[in-house]
Amino acid sequence: MTDSSVKPIELTAVRQLVDNTDRLVSNALEVARRKTDAGKDIDEAQPQCERLAYAATELAAAQNLLAYAVAAAEHGERDAVVEAMAAVFAAEVAHRLSSQLDAHVGEFGLSDEVLNDTLGAAVMKAIVRAALSDARVQAIGSHVIGQRGVNHSWIAEEMAVMSRDAVRQFAVTEVMPIADRLHRQDELIPEDLIRKMAELGYFGMSVPEEFGGGGMGNLVMIITTEELSRASLAGAGSLITRPEILTKALLKGGTDAQKKKWLPRIASGELMVGISVTEPDIGSDVASVKCRADVGEAGGRKGYLINGAKAWCTFAGRADVLALLARTDPDMKKGARGLSLFIVEKDPFTGHNFEMRQPAGGTLVGRADATPGYRGMHSYTLNFDNYFVPAENLVGEAGGLGKGFYLQMNGFAAGRLQTGGRATGLAQAALERTADYANDRRQFGEPIGNFQLTQYKIGRMATHIMAARQLTYAAARAMDADESIALEPAMAKLFASDVAVWVTQEGQLLHGGWGYAEEFAISRCVVDALVLPIFEGVKPILELKVIARNLLAG
Ligand SMILES: Cc1cc2nc3c(=O)[nH]c(=O)nc-3n(C[C@H](O)[C@H](O)[C@H](O)COP(=O)(O)OP(=O)(O)OC[C@H]3O[C@@H](n4cnc5c(N)ncnc54)[C@H](O)[C@@H]3O)c2cc1C
Repeated sequence: MTDSSVKPIELTAVRQLVDNTDRLVSNALEVARRKTDAGKDIDEAQPQCERLAYAATELAAAQNLLAYAVAAAEHGERDAVVEAMAAVFAAEVAHRLSSQLDAHVGEFGLSDEVLNDTLGAAVMKAIVRAALSDARVQAIGSHVIGQRGVNHSWIAEEMAVMSRDAVRQFAVTEVMPIADRLHRQDELIPEDLIRKMAELGYFGMSVPEEFGGGGMGNLVMIITTEELSRASLAGAGSLITRPEILTKALLKGGTDAQKKKWLPRIASGELMVGISVTEPDIGSDVASVKCRADVGEAGGRKGYLINGAKAWCTFAGRADVLALLARTDPDMKKGARGLSLFIVEKDPFTGHNFEMRQPAGGTLVGRADATPGYRGMHSYTLNFDNYFVPAENLVGEAGGLGKGFYLQMNGFAAGRLQTGGRATGLAQAALERTADYANDRRQFGEPIGNFQLTQYKIGRMATHIMAARQLTYAAARAMDADESIALEPAMAKLFASDVAVWVTQEGQLLHGGWGYAEEFAISRCVVDALVLPIFEGVKPILELKVIARNLLAG
């Protein structure tokens, strides 16, 4: 950092702050666990559980950012800016939690003493005040502006660093030049780009080698997604998400024959995938999905006939297969246990509307819904009418009947991890565009990056992005160790998506009027980011039904 007047904060002090925040969150969780019967009665205390889920998520981000700063120092890569970020972020989280607890002390069921013994203690307040000094945040911002926001952060795993460099180069040459056009003309991702990504093995990164994938694991996959999303969220960064979701569902619940049949073709990029869960009237309440799959046959083959509507199926036009969640048991009382997951084959189409007719008469009609951002893949409303799917395309075959909800949720955990990477990459793009602008735009006779408030704002933006990055990387490493986890990817998705929304909007403001012009990429970043807290579990549902439920059950 350039500002030598900013006194560094020892990481041991940051550790104390994070540990005290942890004590407070743990106390609040314990009370909520009792109050909600280990999470069964979350709906009786929704606002409190939402607050807790968010506080625990921010705490996890602070812990991971601190662990990262410590690990870097231990590996001889000590970074004063990262250490300052760890201090600032931990202090912001502690401060926010104290004031929330103070305001809602009754709902949290904690006494003033617990607060006074932890974050309310004089020594903790002193650390928070020192960490949050305007000069410290400005010094981070000034450094980031000087670097034009570029991310060269240290990563322990050599393979991940090599992947970051290679994908960044690819994204700069192949994606960035077309990103603006795709968005403004609402075009579909070009075939040429899909082919190049396929040749580089981007679609099979977490498919095991025995099924034709790279077996590279989740961290490399996340960093690849981050770099592609930095160039364009929908024009490249989101392409890997769908194959990832289906891959994870197949690995979990597919038969050996299904894994051998589908995974190599997904990994090679021969098959593009769409995920179809949401319906026009059914979103968060997935267990109530109505689209039917009834036993039937076509052309002498046994299988299922699909009837019903689906909504928001991204990339459904171009996709060769749709992972479709449908009701195989007509008894609605069975809820989630009546749902099964199918691999629905279709022809690829490039337009905003398509109609697929099967020889036996079944039809699938798709219409893309116009959206302000997230263009390049197009998201479709679908109508299935007696659309035939062979029996062998039921994931898990006969053993998979009634297991679709569970397999889909497993796939969504992978999707959420992906979104942590997508959001971090998009926020990073906004930071770089804003740092560039702060260098180049002059007002009152000097670059706007010279002003204290610009530095302060960019310092906070960069700090939150680093926290989102470390939370997401930690979730990827945790998923490498245990594929069944749900909490860590959900936290990464929740936090990184919010960071992306906030950072893109801060960046837009720092662009002034030009931030609202389509020709400046920041305006695309803003509208793209808005979708991140919506899909794969809209924010309130992710907080309550995934994060709070997991935390309170433990
Ligand atoms: C651009 C885009 C792409 C998408 N891509 C896909 C895709 O590829 N495949 C797919 O299947 N889906 C996709 N989706 C759908 C997305 O996953 C859903 O929109 C999301 O799950 C929310 O469902 P919903 O829109 O029906 O909202 P609803 O479920 O109607 O929720 C609306 C609001 O109601 C409140 N709410 C609902 N239930 C509760 C509750 N129990 N407690 C408290 N509050 C509650 C919350 O505030 C919530 O935000 C996409 C969506 C968009 C916008």
